Amino acid sequence: MTPLDPVDVAGRVVQLLESGRRESTYKLATLLALVDICVENTTAPDGSLIVPVNEITHRIVAYYWPQVRVFNDHGRLSQNKSGRSIPDRIADVRIKLAAESLRTAEAAREAERPDYVRLIRSLRLTVAQQPLTHLQTVPHVRDRDTRDDFLFDASGFHKKMTVGEVDRIGTITLRPGIPEGLRRTSALLRAFIRTAWTHDVVAFNRAELDAEDLDGFLFGTDRTALRSLVEPLRDLQNDLCFYCDRRMAGDVHVDHVVAWSMIPIDGVANLVAADSRCNLDKSASIPVRAHVDRALERPHLTEIARTTRLPLLYRRTSSAADGLFASLPVGSILWRGVRDYEPHTA
Ligand SMILES: [Zn+2]
Repeated sequence: MTPLDPVDVAGRVVQLLESGRRESTYKLATLLALVDICVENTTAPDGSLIVPVNEITHRIVAYYWPQVRVFNDHGRLSQNKSGRSIPDRIADVRIKLAAESLRTAEAAREAERPDYVRLIRSLRLTVAQQPLTHLQTVPHVRDRDTRDDFLFDASGFHKKMTVGEVDRIGTITLRPGIPEGLRRTSALLRAFIRTAWTHDVVAFNRAELDAEDLDGFLFGTDRTALRSLVEPLRDLQNDLCFYCDRRMAGDVHVDHVVAWSMIPIDGVANLVAADSRCNLDKSASIPVRAHVDRALERPHLTEIARTTRLPLLYRRTSSAADGLFASLPVGSILWRGVRDYEPHTA
């Protein structure tokens, strides 16, 4: 098989999502997880990438983790048509671990608490039986589904898989060209998948939900989870804004240097303190590479991670930046400071 062109990879993914109605948002979460993994990892020489089912499960949990909070007066949002869902099982564990000051999915993952380990162990079976089995199925006619295994060979996956079978298979192998295609089109796919996801949540909840509010709730950062970082980051930066170097007066914001909307990484290595002027102006912009490098070179990050019980995620931040900048078209506009931009050079 000749590797697909990146644009064709994106086209085929969109086609998968456009056809047929979904029973849950699991396929969308799985695709976003795969996009993130492709941005952060280097492919084999033939352009393929082996991805453990466990890793996909951790990423899916991380996407749902903030989404199981209560949404305005609607309570917890449904993410499927009926029955106990993946998010329901995450919500129970999230509440328990929040009581131990483990406030983000990544913090829970790193702490390796038995509750979290059990959750992953049980969800990986669901992930294998459902989204990984059906991800590439195009349901044109109900009784004549077509499977188009262009992303990975899913022939070992089926809806009655046992734990033993998942253990034995253990990984999927993204075909040559797929990781590169998902990485190069990640901004496009992310926007498309988020819109589809928001649309599905509105449909599953049969309620008047404001789509704009909802998108922020589902995919925005959970600021309360990061509040404990404000003081240590202020200390580290001598109370100066990370971007403009001015004394921070008023509201201090915890900012994701590699923007949360580009790839969600709640690691101390990716978080800085900024004044509201810089934070709001930067918003979802892509920063100049120098800001990312400077964030990664800061001293004392390990200590801050330990005292705030938030993970460092140094390697993830650094490899995500490598992946994103490598796939950015030359000439893309990068943010250096308030109303200060420069084009990306190769
Ligand atoms: Zn500033």
